[in-house]
Formats: sequence, C-alpha cells, structure tokens
Amino acid sequence: MRKKITILGEKILPGKTYQIKSDIARLHTRTKIEVPIIVSRAKEDGPCVLISAGIHGDEVNGVEIVRQIVANKYNIPDAGIIICVPVVNVFGFLIKTREFPDGKDLNRSFPGAKNGSLASKFAHFFMNEIVDHVDYCIDFHTGGDTRFNYPQIRISDDDDETFSLAKIFGAKFVKYSSEREKSFRASAVASGKKVLLYEGGKSLDINPKVTNVGVTGILNVLEALGVKKFPANYTPFKETQEQVIFNESKWIRANASGMYRSLVQNGEPISKGDVIGLITDPYGFFERKIKSPVSGFVICLNHSPIVNQGDAIAHIAIQNLAS
Ligand SMILES: [Zn+2]
Repeated sequence: MRKKITILGEKILPGKTYQIKSDIARLHTRTKIEVPIIVSRAKEDGPCVLISAGIHGDEVNGVEIVRQIVANKYNIPDAGIIICVPVVNVFGFLIKTREFPDGKDLNRSFPGAKNGSLASKFAHFFMNEIVDHVDYCIDFHTGGDTRFNYPQIRISDDDDETFSLAKIFGAKFVKYSSEREKSFRASAVASGKKVLLYEGGKSLDINPKVTNVGVTGILNVLEALGVKKFPANYTPFKETQEQVIFNESKWIRANASGMYRSLVQNGEPISKGDVIGLITDPYGFFERKIKSPVSGFVICLNHSPIVNQGDAIAHIAIQNLAS
C-alpha cells in the first residue's frame, strides 16, 4: 500500500477527487492568493503525476490545456494520483503578466525559501507541499511575448526514461536543454522527478493546434505510465512519424529595425541561405532580406509586425541527434 498522502492538511484517499485551495500569501491589499490544486487518486496504486501551467501568468495556452484535461475528466486516474494545477501564478494570470506580484519571475525563484520573497516563499511551498509527492511532472509554457513556439518538449539530458516519455508525448520536436538556474524544472529534476517541459504558442493567446498537441501529449504519457487506461485499439497521437531530436539551436535576430514579415512557416525545414523574412520601412523605400545562417527546422517565429534591430525573430533547431 502506498504511503498516506496529505496535501495542505487534506488526506488524499483512494477513489476520491479534491479541489484544494492553497492560501499561502496575501497581496498588499490583504487579498489572499488562492491557488486551486485538483488532486485525484485512484483506488489502485501507481505513479503520481503533476500537470501544471501558468508559472508565467501570461502563458494562457498552457492553462487551457490543463483546463481541458480537468473539464474532460482525463485527470481521474485508473491507477496512481494526478495533481492538476492549471494556474500556478494566479496573480500574474489575473493581471496578464509573466511575473509574480512582487515583480519576480517565479520560474527563477525555485526551490525557494520559507521566509523568502513572495515568489521564493511560494516556490518553497510548491516544492514541499506538491512536488514532494510526485514522480513525474509535465509543465506547460509558451513563448515569451509575441514569440510563437512550435509545439515542442524540452528535457534534461542523461535520463532515458524522460527521453522515452518525451517521444511518447508525440510533439514533433524534442529538445535536450540544460535547466535554467533556479527554474522549477531544475529544482524538480534535482529532487529526482522526471520532468517534461512543453513549450507551445505565445503569451496571451490560445491556439487550437498547440492545445491539441498538449492535451493528447498528456494522455499519451498517462497511458504509457499506466495511470490512465485507454481502450485496446487506442493508438497514441503522434503529430508526425518523424520526430526531430536536437540539442543545438540558433536564434536569428533582426539586422535592422522596421516592419517585419516572415516568409517561412513554423515547424518547416529550411536551408542555410534561405530568405526567412523581410524587414522594411513603412514608406516603401527600404527593404532588407534576412537569411538563415544555418540549415534546420523553424521552431519559433516572432509574430510582432514591428521589430527593433537585434530582436529575436526566428529560432532554428539544428537536427543533430538520432530519434
Ligand atoms: Zn514560461
């Protein structure tokens, strides 16, 4: 029998679902920061999976993915435990900003401290009350601002199980990337959790394809872990049979300021020297081509119609690993 689990004072019993509201901090108005945590435990034992989004409060597409999981009751496990936190940074979400209300990036505040800043205190709470119980995490993000990420999974290197789950998830791109210092992923991996980080879409946006790849990816992973059982004829969704696995990528930056039009599609292969976009003035006199310095796949495009010199406008994956 699996050990007893208590989250925020609530005993999590087999066969039951709970919506627990964490209440660990207040704003300057004394308004409580309540973060709903939806915990569902099967009668049968199995792994504990955390599905989280909205660590960055403006990354709404991840929130929609986790919302659909709960709304469709995909979070009711056949074995083990599923914990859903659709909006980790509720207050950033409320005012549509990336940061925590104290101005800090929550995703640079882990593992946090009991008596640290608001973000640090929250990170500490999240690690100790939630992450401590879990075996696997799937954390949902989008590109920052207007940068639209093609759906992709990011994982740490040197873990075979994480890599196989990343492939099972089914997104076209899998990137080995080192963890950012003080990020949620770095802390979770350091405490022995297997973490898949999903990047898809851009901030303050909901894109149906990004949502679909995310939702079906979760189901594929839950199925593979035995947490959710699907009918015998269930075939895991794969966006494409050919997944691109890589650990090298390159940002292409604007070589002038002006209006920007992309000439390539997200997700598609490009060759070195291809013109990927045009920067112009608004008056019809100036036009500059932007060429790719490398061959690879487009995994992020800046959707801003106006760019400044040096702005990141496209991210190119360099396929250098066998799938
Ligand atoms: Zn993010």
